[in-house]
Amino acid sequence: MDSKDWLVPRCSSPGERNTMKFQWKLAAAISAVAFANPTGRADEPAVLAITNVTIIKPALNSSQAGVTVVLRDGRIAAIGKSTRVPAGSQVIEGRGKYLIPGLADAHVHPYPAPTTGDVKETKDLVASFLPWGITTAFSPAMPLQKFNELRPELLTENAKYPKFYSTVVAYRVDGPGPGNALSRPDSVEKAKESVRYFHSHHVNGIKLIYDDASYASSVPLRVMKREIMEALIDEAHRLGIKAYAHAPVLKLAKETLRAGADGLVHGIISDPVDHEFLELMKKNRAVYISTSSLFEGLKDFPAFLRRHLELYPNFPGAARVNEFLRNPIPLQAPGFNFDRPDAVARQLPVLRANLRKIYDSGVTVVTGSDSAGGLTSLIEIILHVESGLTPMQALRAATINAQKMVGRDKDAGTIQPGKVADLVLLDGNPLADIRNVAKLNRVFRAGVALSRADQSPVSSKAKAKFDPNPEGMGR
Ligand SMILES: [Zn+2]
Repeated sequence: MDSKDWLVPRCSSPGERNTMKFQWKLAAAISAVAFANPTGRADEPAVLAITNVTIIKPALNSSQAGVTVVLRDGRIAAIGKSTRVPAGSQVIEGRGKYLIPGLADAHVHPYPAPTTGDVKETKDLVASFLPWGITTAFSPAMPLQKFNELRPELLTENAKYPKFYSTVVAYRVDGPGPGNALSRPDSVEKAKESVRYFHSHHVNGIKLIYDDASYASSVPLRVMKREIMEALIDEAHRLGIKAYAHAPVLKLAKETLRAGADGLVHGIISDPVDHEFLELMKKNRAVYISTSSLFEGLKDFPAFLRRHLELYPNFPGAARVNEFLRNPIPLQAPGFNFDRPDAVARQLPVLRANLRKIYDSGVTVVTGSDSAGGLTSLIEIILHVESGLTPMQALRAATINAQKMVGRDKDAGTIQPGKVADLVLLDGNPLADIRNVAKLNRVFRAGVALSRADQSPVSSKAKAKFDPNPEGMGR
């Protein structure tokens, strides 16, 4: 659930280890589109104009038809009904199409396995978000080595990758289990020392797991000592970075908020949120990430996978997902024992109602799926609407609100002159039917257009990776 992933079963026997490998590939398959490494072509013109398009502005709760948008040098140069198309521009006819700001998924785990896989795989996975319209991503937990290898690519507005952030670390309760001594501090001093260590590696905040898993498990999880939780948050704040909590149980979430937590990277599923909770969230200016996808998956993983096929029948991982559906295995996560899908099912209405209530209270709701990212990120947006948000509100959570979370809202998240040209062109109106977010025509990242039609075809290596592989099936 923190990552390493909820798609991964714990493994003990060699047979199960094969299954685990398969599950990782499944995660990758859902995320990846038909090409491994989408990039702009060298002959891309410097100026690009989208004409006669309807632009949707979630930050302003408005839309406007018949607009021309000019992109130059990676930025939005001009917008207007009477804006002239500069000579020499590449022109994209936008009539009947809808332009939205680039989308974000603020809870992704884009790496092929916790400790294996080369950096190329991680890079390919991160790059593979782009064709789905995901131009910004935040990973609350990923291996430090993979973050370090990826980081040089992320220091500029790089059209090969979404804008990418990570906490790297997810602190857990001390004692045996996943993670290492650094992520399982058993004293206040070690906790602080560890935060200093990750800060020195330029992480974008920290995450801590403060959870008894009672909403999904018959075996209660031991919760991190309160003084360690508080020390982690204090030290992060002293160093000027944010502290995010994994705390789906209301009582525990409130403890992290009282200690100053800057956001919740999972929704509250245990109880209806109350006045005190909302006040703490507002006081901390904390962000709220529901990870509805995670809880839908915990309730009924095959049904959740089927949603991917329904929304996008021909996505590259479809064959693998179909194979999984013929031979499903229970969903588990390292360190957790999710043996109560019935309990999750019973509490899902609470999770959904909380999202609506929290949004209405004025707290900053941000989209995050807790998946490998990609198609599931779009399903998370749809789940927000199924929870009672309007399509415009769901788009706001995935655009300007996500940019506020990472401190990039001055630069991205809206369609305005001067902003980074991260945009998504859709063939259907997402305000009429939010499922139209999957009707992707083109994605623009830092002004470079990626379209399904002119992408390079899938490489043979990527193809081998995403095609069903009987050896990985654990049989
Ligand atoms: Zn996670």
